[in-house]
Amino acid sequence: PPITVRSLSEAIGMKVGELSKRLVKETNKLYAVNSPVEFEVAELIAIEKGITLKLKERETAESKVLDKYKKRAEEMDPALAVTRPPIVTIMGHVDHGKTTLLDKIRQEYGIKSDVVSTEAGGITQVIRAWQVEKDGNHVTFLDTPGHEAFTKMRARGAKVTDIVVIVVAATDGVMPQTEEAISHAKAADVDIIVAINKIDMPNANVDKTRRQLYQLELLPDNMGGDVPFVETSATTGQGISELLEQVLLVAELADPPLKADPQHPGSGTCLEAYQDSDEGVKATLIVQQGTLHKGDILLCGSTFGRVRAMYNDMGVQIDEAGPSTPVKVTGLDEVPDADDPFYVVEDLSTAREIAEVRKSSRQRSALSSFTPISLDTFNAAKAAQKITELKVIIKAEARGSVEAIKKEMEKLVHEEVRVRVLHSGIGAINESDVELALTSPADTLVIGFNVTADDAALRLAEQRGVSLREYDIIYKLTDDVKSALEGKLKPIE
Ligand code: GDP
Repeated sequence: PPITVRSLSEAIGMKVGELSKRLVKETNKLYAVNSPVEFEVAELIAIEKGITLKLKERETAESKVLDKYKKRAEEMDPALAVTRPPIVTIMGHVDHGKTTLLDKIRQEYGIKSDVVSTEAGGITQVIRAWQVEKDGNHVTFLDTPGHEAFTKMRARGAKVTDIVVIVVAATDGVMPQTEEAISHAKAADVDIIVAINKIDMPNANVDKTRRQLYQLELLPDNMGGDVPFVETSATTGQGISELLEQVLLVAELADPPLKADPQHPGSGTCLEAYQDSDEGVKATLIVQQGTLHKGDILLCGSTFGRVRAMYNDMGVQIDEAGPSTPVKVTGLDEVPDADDPFYVVEDLSTAREIAEVRKSSRQRSALSSFTPISLDTFNAAKAAQKITELKVIIKAEARGSVEAIKKEMEKLVHEEVRVRVLHSGIGAINESDVELALTSPADTLVIGFNVTADDAALRLAEQRGVSLREYDIIYKLTDDVKSALEGKLKPIE
């Protein structure tokens, strides 16, 4: 749509009357509210206000494609939708057994194939997502241990995981990264299953580990919660079958149900991608809706191409892949980013057009720096998005301080905005804390009490406009949070 006086006025925050006068001065022409404004003129006036206008016309090709997908999704015939396998990520403290557990699960339940791998080069490169089968049901595992990958994806808006398995070694009990992982999983609003691991070790203390988890509000159903607890040994394989049963049970009860329509054109998320010297770009994709076919035209982030070859998780060539299936494809023109969404598009020229618009806008935004968000901008964000929750992440030097601050937070009641502690822990503010805030930086505060932020955390916070504050006096901290709450008051209408 062309720029009109009205839309320009809204975009740059100048009153219509004032803008009309300004336009007359610039062009010697009279404008009505709905008159189109030449781009050059609009650009000039916007620049005076410190705003850069972007030509959006070609992006309409993109919105057309996306609208079509949205419409198709809305029109999904429930009768055609089928249950899809759950997609599971394993998280937990380092050395608690995530990798060993994943290996064991794949060894024992991985889908076997008689077909020899046909991937060029003969050797199947590890695909970091694969399926297992248990009693005829499939489960997809994302083989990216650690919550960094999970959080990074989420921060960029990709929701790929349905269930998170939190692994805790019964020898160590809950450790700082266990708590982080739990906070990340809770913030992502995914179903959680606990695997208490290393129960074969003589120094395993299952009861103590359980109690520590209960304190973090992970409660099994006999205690009024809904988090299944499974005791496992990744080395002996004990409990693994039960773990998979629980995964399937949680998947069955998932709300909304895990369903997809295989008749749809395929769409989903890129998990990883690289340049292969023989075959060009290879991208691991997870299909989340519809079916992806060999020969389909893909748009993936700012890359595009025709699916030339498609491999399953065993490196065997396949022609189609349905919902929750991880595949490796060749044929994209460039290496997409991990967590770029992909869509099947009808024709190559549309795909190319959208990819090019995205490429150039990406370059532009890489050049312009991010604007840091301050407490003041909570107000604007609140007005724009109707924020009803102020999220805080608390780091302090001691458990006692954390508890004291949390108590103070609970006391801060406000009619319209509530405070939600996303995560709390002991020690310096680190990158993971900032990443947790990235999902909604406009209404999240990262607070340090008697601790500082490390360099990586500071850099990330600055780059991405996350509010990061350090205190050494509690009442100053609570005062600030209070004013943030009040700043978030709904404007009186
Ligand atoms: P990750 O860092 O969470 O991926 O942990 P790893 O899977 O690398 O495991 C760390 C170490 O613990 C390795 O030496 C594993 O062999 C060992 N380990 C993992 N699970 C178990 C278990 O259930 N029992 C025992 N005895 N050792 C385990």
